[in-house]
Amino acid sequence: MELATAAVRDLAGAVHGAVLRAGDEGYDEACRLWNAGAGGRRPLVVVRCADAADVATAIRYAARHELELSVRSTGHNVTGRAVSDGGVTVDLSGLRDVRVDPGRRLASVQPGVLWGELDARTQEAGLATTGGRISTTGVAGLTLGGGFGWLMRRHGLAADNLLAADVVTADGTGMRAAEDCEPGLFWALRGGGGNFGVVTSLEFRLHPVGPVVTGGAVFYAAEQAARVLRWYRDFLAGAPDDLSVQCNLLRLPPAPFVPPELRGRPAVALAVCHLGTVERAGRDLAALRELGEPLLRRLGPMRYTSLQRLYDMAGRFGSFVYGRSGYLPELTDAAVDALTAPGCAVPGAGSIVMISPLGGAVARVGELDTAVGHRGAAVSCSVDAVWQRPGAAAAHVAWADRVWAGLRPHCSGAYVNELGDEGPERVREAYHPVAWQRLRVLKTHYDPGNVFRLNQNIPPAAGNAGSRTVSPPAGDAGSRKP
Ligand SMILES: Cc1cc2nc3c(=O)[nH]c(=O)nc-3n(C[C@H](O)[C@H](O)[C@H](O)COP(=O)(O)OP(=O)(O)OC[C@H]3O[C@@H](n4cnc5c(N)ncnc54)[C@H](O)[C@@H]3O)c2cc1C
Repeated sequence: MELATAAVRDLAGAVHGAVLRAGDEGYDEACRLWNAGAGGRRPLVVVRCADAADVATAIRYAARHELELSVRSTGHNVTGRAVSDGGVTVDLSGLRDVRVDPGRRLASVQPGVLWGELDARTQEAGLATTGGRISTTGVAGLTLGGGFGWLMRRHGLAADNLLAADVVTADGTGMRAAEDCEPGLFWALRGGGGNFGVVTSLEFRLHPVGPVVTGGAVFYAAEQAARVLRWYRDFLAGAPDDLSVQCNLLRLPPAPFVPPELRGRPAVALAVCHLGTVERAGRDLAALRELGEPLLRRLGPMRYTSLQRLYDMAGRFGSFVYGRSGYLPELTDAAVDALTAPGCAVPGAGSIVMISPLGGAVARVGELDTAVGHRGAAVSCSVDAVWQRPGAAAAHVAWADRVWAGLRPHCSGAYVNELGDEGPERVREAYHPVAWQRLRVLKTHYDPGNVFRLNQNIPPAAGNAGSRTVSPPAGDAGSRKP
């Protein structure tokens, strides 16, 4: 420990930001995780980075002292792997620069920035890029894993709009990755998660969006769930790219917009974002009438930035969360039956089954053009048990496992950003088999020692016991398109 103390002093002298240890102001905040159930991790040091040089220093320090390294942007990942227990946590929350170039429709963003902050800046120019469906998640982890959001059927995933990234790799080298430099790394960053380096800046393509869109939700009684789900499937098949609708099984929240007598009632919600004119949205959503009278309808024109904040309360920090998720190639009758089977009713406030649409621009990107897999699926599906009291896990986990057991036979694959602690096979299922082999080759090139392993891990191809050896491409893997 004495040695560690001296070494930590050296580290503090070497960085422009701050080095925090237990007891220091800011340390506990840096250890906070969105999922309380993953909490309690205590890094030996947190390096609150002020720039990319600090990131490199932290990586080299961890290597020199053989300490585990984790990378934290906003701590939203359900597994909590953004924070190391006993090692070094690279905290990027202080990297908060945003630059918007309205003329060229570009935004350059650092990883401590939240989607709501980026949207607020880009919407000043009537622009936006696909970001998460709430405003408080960060730009980095979400984009590196793929990035689902309200705009994706029109404009592609967050990763599809990534034009370049500044990265510090496992040996502390800083480099830019884009189509024309380090294209292999650039390919891997779009879907490969945090496996290839620490991203210190992301450059996004922007699109004209809003500022007014049609958003909100229509809620139906849970008894109608099977009928609504089947209607949703058929409706989605003909929906325009401007329309994104989620179909969620939940309980009505204790929110001001919900009449007291409906709060806590099991329901099925269609959550809507339409990017076209109010008139066109009205036409495209007219078919909702086929479903009859809803319990509650909160749908209308609103600013895109308001839509982005509508569900923030549901995503607030500090609940206990356990989830399972995958893709549904089709929302078949059998899948609907599984979702609405006895015993699957959502048990409490906050827990949710979310069916989210893919299609549109997502499906038009080639399966191997980025590392993101399963682009051809009709929808993604996640089952999230959420509770507030420590010690109440058993019943909530049992519910999620029960729903998932029924649904799993109808699912394929996994979305890395939503995976829990589910083991290496599930990580592999997130990718097309060819993409998986390429990712492992690129991992071997950029991170042969698996420095970046606190994530949904893609192991290096060589020297990994039990895994199939894949030859790295001739020459510099980073300078070839995989
Ligand atoms: C409330 C809530 C809402 C969500 N909504 C959506 C949504 O709408 N769409 C969607 O696609 N996903 C969504 N997610 C999932 C989200 O994409 C993942 O949790 C993602 O991992 C969060 O990344 P982060 O950087 O915010 O979190 P962190 O927990 O800080 O990071 C997660 C992991 O990402 C990697 N990472 C983070 N930053 C960097 C970086 N700068 N460089 C390299 N690696 C990095 C690291 O491996 C790290 O362990 C949501 C999650 C929550 C909790």
